[in-house]
Amino acid sequence: MFQEFKVMKTRCETALSRSGLPGLDYALNPYVGCSHACIYCYARLYTRNRDVGSNWGRIILVKENIVDVLRREVAKYPRGVVGIGTVTDAYQPVEAVYKLTRRSLEVLLRHGFHVSIQTKNPLVLRDMDLLVTHRDLVDVGFTITTLDYRASIQIEPHAPPPNARLKALEKLVEENIASWIFYGPIIPGINSDPDTVRSMVDIAKKLNIVLYYDVLHVKSFMNTPTHPLYNYIEKTRRERRRIMELIETECRRQKVTCRTGFSEG
Ligand code: SF4
Repeated sequence: MFQEFKVMKTRCETALSRSGLPGLDYALNPYVGCSHACIYCYARLYTRNRDVGSNWGRIILVKENIVDVLRREVAKYPRGVVGIGTVTDAYQPVEAVYKLTRRSLEVLLRHGFHVSIQTKNPLVLRDMDLLVTHRDLVDVGFTITTLDYRASIQIEPHAPPPNARLKALEKLVEENIASWIFYGPIIPGINSDPDTVRSMVDIAKKLNIVLYYDVLHVKSFMNTPTHPLYNYIEKTRRERRRIMELIETECRRQKVTCRTGFSEG
């Protein structure tokens, strides 16, 4: 599951960027590239570093000065909601070594910024002390695309397995951390079947949390016969509406709040 990747240091001029995502004022991404290497990951399109984009998952840039830059910014920027991991997963394996996400969290929370984290990695539980102490300032979402390990390996080859993500999400809820689940991207033929839809709504129901979902957005890099998603593109275009209705219907039936969202990465 774990893959080798090359780590390179880089320096950043800004830590917080303005976010156009709903509900977020700022975005913070301590790493460029993501070793979870999901085959659908859109983030490769947004990195300016060509090597990182074309070797997705195998090169990670660490913004070594991000915490110092952030300290200066929080002193002058108005407080707001900061999305952590809006482009790449801030709790990917490299974070276990560099702790840039943790140190950024400390700065943001100490200065009264609200933090919204989205991840696939249970490493976020390492920072439970901060999350619990600043409960009123945090929310955490876990991306779970399927509960089927084989399907997960097919689309998210180096991300933690779904059962580990589910356990971590349960732990967050147990600790009364505002939490949510993101089911996406939904790919017809891989994780769009009624059983998967029902199981995702079941999780949201059982944990009493909001379910966000999103159907795959077809991007140019998928539209080549050698890409593993190539054969799913036409189906995605045809079935988007049907899948959304399936989810909305199941959520109404189970009285679960669901919203469409847009996945990180
Ligand atoms: S989708 Fe998210 S977790 Fe997967 S590679 Fe992209 S940034 Fe990482």
